[in-house]
Amino acid sequence: MNTSLTNLKFSNRFAEQLPADPVTENYCRQVESACFSYVNPTQVQSPKTLALSSEVLESLGIIGDTSDLLNDSAFSEILTGNKLLPGMKPYASCYGGHQFGNWAGQLGDGRAINLGEASTENGFFTLQLKGAGMTPYSRRADGLAVLRSSVREFLCSEAMHHLGIPTTRALSLCLTGESVTRDMFYDGNPQQEPGAIVCRVAESFTRFGHFQLYSSRNDIALLQQFTDYTLKNDFPHLGKPGKDTYLEWFSEVCDLTLSMIVHWQRVGFVHGVMNTDNMSVLGQTIDYGPYGWLDNYDPDWTPNTTDAQNRRYRFGNQAQISLWNLYQLANAIYPLIGDAKPLEEILNSYSGKYQSAYYQMMCQKLGLNTSFSDSKDNLINSLEKLLTSAETDMTIFYRVLANTSLETDINGQLITLKNAYYESTQINDSYIQALKNWLNQYQKICAEENLAPDERAKQMNTVNPKYILRNYLAQQASDKATEGDLSMLHALQEMIRNPYSEQPQFDEYAAKRPDWARTRPGCSMLSCSS
Ligand code: AMP
Ligand code: MG
Repeated sequence: MNTSLTNLKFSNRFAEQLPADPVTENYCRQVESACFSYVNPTQVQSPKTLALSSEVLESLGIIGDTSDLLNDSAFSEILTGNKLLPGMKPYASCYGGHQFGNWAGQLGDGRAINLGEASTENGFFTLQLKGAGMTPYSRRADGLAVLRSSVREFLCSEAMHHLGIPTTRALSLCLTGESVTRDMFYDGNPQQEPGAIVCRVAESFTRFGHFQLYSSRNDIALLQQFTDYTLKNDFPHLGKPGKDTYLEWFSEVCDLTLSMIVHWQRVGFVHGVMNTDNMSVLGQTIDYGPYGWLDNYDPDWTPNTTDAQNRRYRFGNQAQISLWNLYQLANAIYPLIGDAKPLEEILNSYSGKYQSAYYQMMCQKLGLNTSFSDSKDNLINSLEKLLTSAETDMTIFYRVLANTSLETDINGQLITLKNAYYESTQINDSYIQALKNWLNQYQKICAEENLAPDERAKQMNTVNPKYILRNYLAQQASDKATEGDLSMLHALQEMIRNPYSEQPQFDEYAAKRPDWARTRPGCSMLSCSS
């Protein structure tokens, strides 16, 4: 076991096995026939580590007292890119993507710099700095990130991990000691904000957009080299590359993506920018920008103001969009297969597989077994209607439902459920009647399944989190951190570690969204620019 970052061994399979951009100067350009460009992080003034994930440190084999490491200036120098460790050879990778449904051409790591791959007992992990300065892919932007968005990325990556949802991880959150200008809503109100860097960690940061870019340029040799690289390093269990293996791989990417989306729907997570450059081939949640968590259950909700009009990436549309994105990946790799039929077959099976995975997930949320029945299917459909017919806090609803005694009369049940509603005036006679019908239906099915109340509650509480990173909490933590108060950041870091357990000390963070946060920028509305 290592005790320090400096003992980590770095390798660079990506850079060693794939073609590099021959140009090494750092200016914005189109990079052809290459998968990446070498680029060093920009030096920053006064690095300071604000938070570290002890779990990520442990996966990297680094054992140490987190509070000591927080104050270790050598650590912050490395985690902001000021100091490189032996074996690190930083680069930015070259990918493209569809943004909001339109092909955008080359995008690339415009504000992410990969330091290298740590080779650990748990496998290879790429360390990537987000916000470490300009790269050849920065286009018209600055390559930087602000504390606000970095707090959000740091906390949410770790929250997702502890919820059991595949995600890229966040090792650290550091201040750079410099300020960054941001016009948060593109409305002519630029502000100075503290600059920050998150060190992200993942087995691979390969996106659908990598394949798309090489294919769009008709660079089939590069497409094949990149796909073979991905198979060899990220999907070694699939064996030797070839047409059949490419298809097996595509099918696996579909399954991984599907499973990630079902998890998002389970906890009420809205990614906000499901562009194809933000889709990981490992099926990990990646690129935490204007994401949000449902407070009241609303399939039409998106936190992303850039998408406010079309709501392409709304909660209820995430499965459809994932399939749309997989179509783009299929188109990209088509030249390697030369036959559309097997790709179409895989894509055609997606919706059916999703429906059955979604159904099973919903059964689990209700504590029921996952075998199919029409009555359970109806129960789920009517629940979704019920949840939207009065503003209902999704997270609180499932937790209180777990503890609602189905034997008591409707008034008794309402008392337990009351806390889940935002507007008491909406809980009128017709709502109560609909709720009553639903609870009767639910009680009948629980009885058919011989489900003991405490067993039902126990099962439900393993899939329905009590503590999520509510939008207003992340915003408050970042406001406070901006003022130099890290207490809430650290408290939330602690809270998200055990989302399914009762943690009375954090009960105020399990409360409904307060009224002031309903429309406050940052709490319910975010833009892509951060
Ligand atoms: P995103 O919406 O964050 O996934 O970013 C889309 C594209 O814009 C990617 O190529 C990013 O690298 C790039 N990008 C976003 N923000 C910045 C920034 N501040 N500086 C440079 N490039 C950026
Ligand atoms: Mg992105």
